[in-house]
Amino acid sequence: MNQTPSLHGPRPVLIVGAGFAGAVYGRTLAEAGWQVEIIDRRIHIAGNAHDAVDANGVRVHTYGPHLFHTQNKEVFDWISRFGAMVPYRHSVTAQLDDGRLVPLPVNRRTLEILYDVSLPDAEAVNALLESVAQPIKNPANAAEHLLSRIGPTLTDLFFRPYTRKMWGLELEDMDASVVRRIPLRHDYTSDYFPDDTYQVLPRDGYTALFDSILDHPNISVTLGTAFDKAMQADAHWCFNSMAIDEYFDQCFGALPYRSIRFHTQTRPRDQIDGTAVVNYTDDGPMTRETRWALLPSHEVDRGPDTTVTLEEPCSYEENNFERYYPVKTADGRFQDVYRRYADEAARHDRLSFIGRCGTYQYLDMHQVINQSLVQCRKWIDSQS
Ligand SMILES: Cc1cc2nc3c(=O)[nH]c(=O)nc-3n(C[C@H](O)[C@H](O)[C@H](O)COP(=O)(O)OP(=O)(O)OC[C@H]3O[C@@H](n4cnc5c(N)ncnc54)[C@H](O)[C@@H]3O)c2cc1C
Repeated sequence: MNQTPSLHGPRPVLIVGAGFAGAVYGRTLAEAGWQVEIIDRRIHIAGNAHDAVDANGVRVHTYGPHLFHTQNKEVFDWISRFGAMVPYRHSVTAQLDDGRLVPLPVNRRTLEILYDVSLPDAEAVNALLESVAQPIKNPANAAEHLLSRIGPTLTDLFFRPYTRKMWGLELEDMDASVVRRIPLRHDYTSDYFPDDTYQVLPRDGYTALFDSILDHPNISVTLGTAFDKAMQADAHWCFNSMAIDEYFDQCFGALPYRSIRFHTQTRPRDQIDGTAVVNYTDDGPMTRETRWALLPSHEVDRGPDTTVTLEEPCSYEENNFERYYPVKTADGRFQDVYRRYADEAARHDRLSFIGRCGTYQYLDMHQVINQSLVQCRKWIDSQS
């Protein structure tokens, strides 16, 4: 990408990471006249939102399905500047042991299928749940909370195996707050994100969207390049989306993450229908599968075969230190460690940590975009 001289002095701004955080900062700074150099140690742009069309003619998201959903019009308008969007309202089914598929989150239809009853209204749903719930007065953990609300059948089917696989934990070892907000629908709504006004996918994929975001004369992108502290010397400022504990050589200890191993399979196209994402309820190692062809604009070239990706959660040590989900324990001990790193970072000049791993929090794409837009604009104002 070509560069024009910066309006803000000779030294560029260095951005570490070409995911949403880095790309939003990069574009916002470039439009304000800053010269921006973005590096990423991967050989592709788009961070964890990266996608590509595979040999079956299907667009596959390299790091698991990325579904864009938000209530924030400004964020939606911002990404819409960089590529056409297609509407997609996400819904999920869960596969039972006998192969039947039921809606997830649990709704009235799920209960009717599982208990083989007809539930004419929300009152009937409540009556059923009351009849199966256990009388636990002050639930002490996630298991007790679920048992007191939905009883053992639903708890053991939808929550116990998932929690074990996803977090490597038993429900008894998790705080009740983790499951308190899990939705349970008294109607037939199967929307996974019922409150989000804007639910779309980029028509030409996320990678093309990032190509367009980063296509600005003030932006240069260098891939396959890991951050080195010496790079900061030539930069006016460094916005860094790498893991904050890695930057500080884990001097206060490691900030752990859960990770996911992705297993890609080829299946006959005519065997694929229903929802794009199916969750497994069994005790095996996989949590879910994504049938890419069922997402709009993802079946680029339909042939006899298609691609399905299965997800196997693991610790990040078991997956080449790929950091996906910050680990939240009931005692919040890793958030305490993170705060020590954040305090240390605040003592460094011309350095800000951004994005998911820079701030050690799980953030959806719309949250990263919003945070990055707000904070970057504030920074630009502070420099004038
Ligand atoms: C499995 C999974 C599914 C998800 N599904 C959804 C979804 O459906 N909807 C949704 O809204 N969000 C989803 N997300 C969240 C979404 O991925 C994040 O919101 C988004 O990727 C955060 O952007 P980021 O820039 O902070 O991080 P990233 O996308 O991770 O980008 C950070 C970049 O920094 C680079 N980097 C790190 N360290 C260095 C270094 N030392 N030197 C150079 N470069 C470095 C990395 O290579 C990476 O490319 C999902 C996340 C995961 C893991």
